[in-house]
Amino acid sequence: MPSRSLEVADIFRDHGAAWRAANAGHISLNQFKVMSAIERCRTAALGGHVARCADCAHEHIAYNSCRNRHCPKCQAGAAKIWLAAREAELLPVRYFHLVFTLPKQIADIAYQNKREIYNLLMRASADTVVRIAADPKHLGAKVGITSVLHTWGSAMTHHPHVHMIVPGGGLSTDGSKWIACRKNFFLSVHVLSRLYRRLILEGLAKLHKAGKLQFFGDLTNLADRNVFDTFLQPLRKIEWVVYAKEPFTGPKAVLAYLSRYTHRIAISNSRLIRFDSIFRYF
Ligand SMILES: [Zn+2]
Ligand SMILES: [Zn+2]
Repeated sequence: MPSRSLEVADIFRDHGAAWRAANAGHISLNQFKVMSAIERCRTAALGGHVARCADCAHEHIAYNSCRNRHCPKCQAGAAKIWLAAREAELLPVRYFHLVFTLPKQIADIAYQNKREIYNLLMRASADTVVRIAADPKHLGAKVGITSVLHTWGSAMTHHPHVHMIVPGGGLSTDGSKWIACRKNFFLSVHVLSRLYRRLILEGLAKLHKAGKLQFFGDLTNLADRNVFDTFLQPLRKIEWVVYAKEPFTGPKAVLAYLSRYTHRIAISNSRLIRFDSIFRYF
């Protein structure tokens, strides 16, 4: 067993320069920056500080980290910090795990309009929960939500959906008391899915009208308003799946699962197996 496990940074430091030379002209400035950040992260190149024990004079040198979005070392730490902060927010009540998905037809449009439609998905799903929960016919309370956008499914195909962690209750309108939901039942998924469907479809029509959607390839025809309306028509009738369940394992397990995704990078250090002429990962 090696004394220190293999890191993406080791591979970049050993072979990065040769790879960059071989691919000169095909590497973006951003790719250069990411490689440089990963190579220099937590080395003397980024500076650091020395901690010295006043009793035994033991010295420990801590080098600065790069904090790059793609750095395996920094993102592993960021995921831990995110998880600890979300766990600290948890109230001593039961929690529900909700998942809002987009039908395949809209996922295809989202692939060509990531910023606009991911925004719409995050907003529409949150508005749905807040509005239904506030309705006295349902819960009649103000709820808090933690939402995480997932854009890829487990099969590594484009599959935009939102995971939500929501407490099973909320504050009364005047903020004076806690209103808990019924046991094992947060809000009707049927009612949630109807409003969610309406908000997404209305949002899409608005984006289209404002000229904020772009269409390429097979979807080029959808730039026409009438074609777009006809395309959306069947989606007004089908059931949209909203998942809402109390997780058996509690909210912490769901947060831990989500934290592995929120700071995920292409190849984390733990996936590296060994480094010879070609490197291998699982
Ligand atoms: Zn780093
Ligand atoms: Zn997911």
